[in-house]
Amino acid sequence: MTVPRGLRAVSNGELRNVTTAKGGRTAFSWHSAEPMASYLATLAIGRYGITRSTARDGLPVYTAVDPAEKDASRAVLARIPEILRWAERRFGPYPFSSTGAIVDRAAEVGYALETQTRPVFPGAPGMTLLVHELAHQWYGDSVTPESWRDMWLNEGFTTYAEWLWREDHGGESAQESFDALYENGEKTYKDLWAFPPAKPADAANISGDPVYQRGAMVLHKIRQAVGDDRFFAILRGWATEHRHGNADTAEFTAYVEEQAPGEDFDGIWEDWLYGEGKPERP
Ligand SMILES: [Zn+2]
Repeated sequence: MTVPRGLRAVSNGELRNVTTAKGGRTAFSWHSAEPMASYLATLAIGRYGITRSTARDGLPVYTAVDPAEKDASRAVLARIPEILRWAERRFGPYPFSSTGAIVDRAAEVGYALETQTRPVFPGAPGMTLLVHELAHQWYGDSVTPESWRDMWLNEGFTTYAEWLWREDHGGESAQESFDALYENGEKTYKDLWAFPPAKPADAANISGDPVYQRGAMVLHKIRQAVGDDRFFAILRGWATEHRHGNADTAEFTAYVEEQAPGEDFDGIWEDWLYGEGKPERP
């Protein structure tokens, strides 16, 4: 990317080269070694403050922050290595060659996005949001959905990652998160029971509440059925099996069944994954 001098171009992967030509324009050359779905490519141009550090084994951490968001971002971004260490324990090896974040000042955008290696935030993120977007590097970025209908494989997993982070850091347990949603979830997420996570009502609903919240509930139902050891092996195994590939919901249910032979998941799939309305039993 070639930009006017004084500006920076920030993208996915690793910054390989920066050259300023006579005309006063600067070329930034970024390299991504791993495959990338097109919706995860990003390009941000601005006057960012850059921080470089490393996570485990020297994994490069590159953050670009709008000066207006610098103070509010500093503490939370400094925890990226700690979040990755935790996530590797839960989800398996980090799938890319670098990490980081782009924090812009763009409140009107209204959402963050899990762009590969370097999620974009419209302002300084909170801890939960940062955990969510980093968890996407495994679920969504490395394992990418076959079609938008499979979006819950992204958002259900990363919502569950938020629950796990809380559970592992002295907050409410995933069971408590599940129970609260089951009892009162529609007060916070008004469309919670509007459609099943694996069958969004239409294209406009692929980012709807059921895809995130009920998607996480599906994972918790699997955890209840198989127990913690097997459940976390499934989370890690799924990320490993489809690393840098596409996957759909049928492949996921087949994978779970394969990992827990003898266990009957039909009720979970019928009620929680594909079923209309609120399932009768929590
Ligand atoms: Zn997400």
